Amino acid sequence: MTTLDFDNTYARLPDRFFARVDPAIADAPTLIAVNGDLAGELGFDPGWLAGAEGLDFVSGRVIASGSEPIATAYAGHQFGNFVPQLGDGRAILLGEIIDRQGRRRDIQLKGSGRTPFSRRGDGLAALGPVLREYLVSEAMAALGVPTTRSLAASLTGGKVQRERALPGAVLVRVAASHIRVGTFQFFAARQDNEGVRILADHVIARHYPEAAEADQPYRALLRAIVAAQADLIARWMLVGFIHGVMNTDNMSIAGETIDYGPCAFLDAYDPATVFSSIDQHGRYAFGNQPRIALWDLARLAETLLPLLADDTDEAIAIAEVVLAEFQPIFEKAHGEGMIRKLGLLDRRDGDVELVRDMLAAMQRNRVDFTLFFRRLSDAVEPAPHEERVRELFIDPTEADQALGAWRARLAQDGRASGAIKSGMDSVNPAYIPRNHRIEAVIQAAEQGDFAPFEELREVLARPFDARVAFAAYETPPGEHERVRATFCGT
Ligand code: AMP
Ligand code: MG
Repeated sequence: MTTLDFDNTYARLPDRFFARVDPAIADAPTLIAVNGDLAGELGFDPGWLAGAEGLDFVSGRVIASGSEPIATAYAGHQFGNFVPQLGDGRAILLGEIIDRQGRRRDIQLKGSGRTPFSRRGDGLAALGPVLREYLVSEAMAALGVPTTRSLAASLTGGKVQRERALPGAVLVRVAASHIRVGTFQFFAARQDNEGVRILADHVIARHYPEAAEADQPYRALLRAIVAAQADLIARWMLVGFIHGVMNTDNMSIAGETIDYGPCAFLDAYDPATVFSSIDQHGRYAFGNQPRIALWDLARLAETLLPLLADDTDEAIAIAEVVLAEFQPIFEKAHGEGMIRKLGLLDRRDGDVELVRDMLAAMQRNRVDFTLFFRRLSDAVEPAPHEERVRELFIDPTEADQALGAWRARLAQDGRASGAIKSGMDSVNPAYIPRNHRIEAVIQAAEQGDFAPFEELREVLARPFDARVAFAAYETPPGEHERVRATFCGT
């Protein structure tokens, strides 16, 4: 097997950070997909990856030299309840690679068998969740949202038992790291202050080296993580992404979107939207995401208290100041993003109200979030395109009001319509991974037909570039196609 240049740092941390474990050998693996662009970024030969040796690697059948497979330990608050030990129960970190741009990237197998952290789980992944994660994570990357990536997917050749027997699959996930808020909680819950400090130092060196130069490096670390999350959640809100399970074990310290389970994109705009079948109280509803992210970050801050100051009250005061930075950073990023979505140059007085009123009208009228902004750019020149915006509203007079206010504000900028339109089309996607499309892809794939998966991959690879052949992918689900619940990636 080709030698891959692994350079593992997490496996050098103390033994209590992880367990060494080999992937299960897949029965008869077959390749579903390799991500050629990402392979190139990582310095892999895409041809090799798509070939026989590549399949051995991505299915976990052969451990490449230099790889030191481990399952990492973490804890986490799940739906608000603390679980002191979770850990990689169905994922195995193969190691770290320095990519072509000098960035350290984790290469992990997801669905490759049991680990010491599997508890009652089988350590396996079904085909559906693997395809969902592949499509949605790559769509997020193409939308410009920080995210873990998908390098490859394969079928194991075996079955996994869920409500019914389903084809087993393995995803190769690539991440800046797999360190979570829950990783800090794992050590803090054991009063292992030394562990928290070692982890914090690792994270500073790896993700936030500028914090090392600050007067108070751990305070700077917390600030950097808070800022990264505030920016990330703003980006989710701007594309209509609902994570679905924002437990602290699913929040990446590096600020990437991680752990795509019952995630989904909004069709009709409504902040109360919940898809996840396990989220019965709407804790992780679309509109709650900023608040929940801050809640998760408060749990992180708690783990860092011993590092922030010797005196606990002083440490709490420091943490509170830093956590208070979340909301303004989020609002600025979200506000500026909305301004760009509306084709406006920069923020002026009254824009906050303009955005608020626009979203409220969209909510009342169950307007499709993605289609609205895309059609709005066509309506920069009023006739005849304005009608296409109006027809998205239940009450067209509300559309007229919203359009009127927007036009009046556009006029203040005094820009040429061509420039407005191209700017809008560069931030408002034509294509998002709509739920009903993903469901259709999964159903076909379970029958052995991967053509819909391939086509959706192609559509989502260039989300801002409307192509006539793919026009049908822009439209929201019809009444009978609407997906009401998504299920966890287990
Ligand atoms: P997640 O739903 O990905 O946030 O997973 C929550 C926890 O459950 C993590 O510790 C996972 O490793 C574990 N887990 C989820 N599914 C399985 C499975 N099929 N086998 C073993 N562990 C699992
Ligand atoms: Mg998880």
